[in-house]
Amino acid sequence: MHYTGTIYRPPFESASLLLQVTAGCSHNRCAFCTMYRDVPFRMEPMEQIERDLDEAARRYPHVRRVFLENGDPFVLSTERLAAISERIHERLPEVETIAMYASVLNIKTKTDAELRALRALGINELNIGVESGLDDALQAMEKGYTAAEAVAELTRLREAGIDFGANVILGAAGAGRGPENAVMTAELLNATKPYLIFTGTIHADPGCPLYENLQSGAFTESTVGEYLDEEETLLQCLDIDCRYFGLHPSNIVPMDGRLPADRETLLAQIRAAREAFTPRQLASRPRRYGEGAVVIED
Ligand code: SF4
Repeated sequence: MHYTGTIYRPPFESASLLLQVTAGCSHNRCAFCTMYRDVPFRMEPMEQIERDLDEAARRYPHVRRVFLENGDPFVLSTERLAAISERIHERLPEVETIAMYASVLNIKTKTDAELRALRALGINELNIGVESGLDDALQAMEKGYTAAEAVAELTRLREAGIDFGANVILGAAGAGRGPENAVMTAELLNATKPYLIFTGTIHADPGCPLYENLQSGAFTESTVGEYLDEEETLLQCLDIDCRYFGLHPSNIVPMDGRLPADRETLLAQIRAAREAFTPRQLASRPRRYGEGAVVIED
């Protein structure tokens, strides 16, 4: 299989066949993201995709799920995505789902009929960085859409039968605004009904605007206690049936459950963490390591 640069995938796609159909990200300007800063966006040649599928057919003939790479393959035209999907089904007849990263901006470029046609070809369960329901946070993160636009596009996606998992960022609005971010993000998610919510806390590596803003003090990160309060509010406000996946290393409390069934269990985990931390720890800001992994010092 042909892969260039770093290949990213959500943790729940660990059993999927990873098929590279693009390099980089067509947007490549979110303020917190360094994933593809030095990778110019491009489409992979169809001959290469076909060679990879031929190899996959020999090595993994019974694969049932494919995850298209890289940053936002859903930006490809409907014709291109349809041609890739057809080649997948020709060579891997047991494939049921073709998933990928996508953005709200990608959905905008497709008509309702095109979205339905892509769903009919097995494209489903897109992973979308929704991030926040607060317009000023979305603007500061340079996402390129408003919360209302996100609701409109994600609703079109769902009405075409395409499910999506939503990535959301706790602390996206910064210190002192956690509950506000949680309420507005829950409102967006309740309106659009993702099948999965993937949470992480805000963090940045060198080489992106958010890192500079954290260093200069232009953006103040939430404290440990504020992160816990924000996630508690988010869980209380969510009114949908979905998986709540909080196992990103940047989370203060690792958790994974279903809503609404596991809501009280997840809330109890947050409350237990709050009781376990000292007042000083709750008032501190987490130390970060790779992928934003948190360490809370004594
Ligand atoms: S967060 Fe996603 S959409 Fe934004 S620049 Fe990074 S890969 Fe692209």
